[in-house]
Amino acid sequence: MTDCVFCNIIAGKIPGQFVHQDEQVVVFKDIHPKARVHLLVVPRVHVESLAELTGQHDGLTAHMMRLLSQVARAQGLDNGFRTVINTGPGGGQEVPHLHIHLLGGGPLPGF
Ligand code: 5GP
Ligand code: ZN
Repeated sequence: MTDCVFCNIIAGKIPGQFVHQDEQVVVFKDIHPKARVHLLVVPRVHVESLAELTGQHDGLTAHMMRLLSQVARAQGLDNGFRTVINTGPGGGQEVPHLHIHLLGGGPLPGF
């Protein structure tokens, strides 16, 4: 069993509250939500962070970017949403499997 928590969620070994699944990407609820809607957009392939993306991932990267607004709309975030990607220890990344935070549904703190 891999020790990557997100790989284990994707494999169904740890429960996750999925709101979207396709061939390349899953989207599930963050376990400690920081907004009314707080989702994690996660590639099925284990890529550690933005810093490990290569040209091989260009299709995946484009898919994730375009999926964000589709998922946001499906969640009723018609007024907009926030995306956050933490990269590496210097960026505050806690789970070393690339993911995009998708937040919204109420007032968000200033950035
Ligand atoms: P990071 O700091 O790496 O950008 O964010 C990791 C996020 O993953 C955190 O917001 C944290 O709450 C979430 N998280 C950590 N473990 C789990 C888990 O087991 N299940 C879910 N759904 N989210 C998790
Ligand atoms: Zn992983």
